[in-house]
Amino acid sequence: MGRALFRFHGELEDFLPKDQRGTWLQYHYRGAPSLKHAIETFGVPHPEVGVPADLGRPLEDGEALDVYRREFRTQPGEEWRFVLDCHLGRLAKHLRILGFDTVYRPQAEDGWLAAVSHDEGRVLLTMDRGLLMRGLVDRGSLVRSAAPRDQLREILGRFHLAGQVRPLRRCLRCNGLLVDVAKDEVLDQIPPKTRLWCQEYRRCSACSQLYWAGSHYERMMAWVENLGIRANQNPC
Ligand SMILES: [Zn+2]
Repeated sequence: MGRALFRFHGELEDFLPKDQRGTWLQYHYRGAPSLKHAIETFGVPHPEVGVPADLGRPLEDGEALDVYRREFRTQPGEEWRFVLDCHLGRLAKHLRILGFDTVYRPQAEDGWLAAVSHDEGRVLLTMDRGLLMRGLVDRGSLVRSAAPRDQLREILGRFHLAGQVRPLRRCLRCNGLLVDVAKDEVLDQIPPKTRLWCQEYRRCSACSQLYWAGSHYERMMAWVENLGIRANQNPC
């Protein structure tokens, strides 16, 4: 029988019972389990692990490993794209409000979520640890908080999103990209009072929903400011 030692650090300790935090944990095994398998035996999903990097390699008898969480940072010019499980509808809407590419379907099943994450390179955000442990999922993170506002703070922090906020960029209904549209083209869809003061409009390129920087936009910006975020864009 083989034996290895693991010690988990930082946010990875969230996955451990209190009495297993900050200490070396023993792992006994037969055969040749991979590092991924051994780490997930402790309840830590592999997409959250940054160090050691090669989780596919077999465990070596007698080794002692410090395990650290993945640092979620993008390369220059790259943006995070997300897919969210069916329990995170409010968080999905909040992320779209802030302009982030966010796939969300209320009836989505686990297999579909894992496949979309894998095929489209999207970060899977979920409250289901088992879903994150699926082999198909490369990028993903467990949402720890229960309240939607706390969830948003958590994800903005973990993925360093504060500098990438761009309101009025994504459709809140379908995630489509918003494009500028001439006022004349959509005059019949604008409430008469709004026509008087607003000159700039955007329309969803996928579902044609119309957007402008009305009173709801001001409320949204106040809400964004309350989170301590500066938006990159002021469309009107
Ligand atoms: Zn749309």
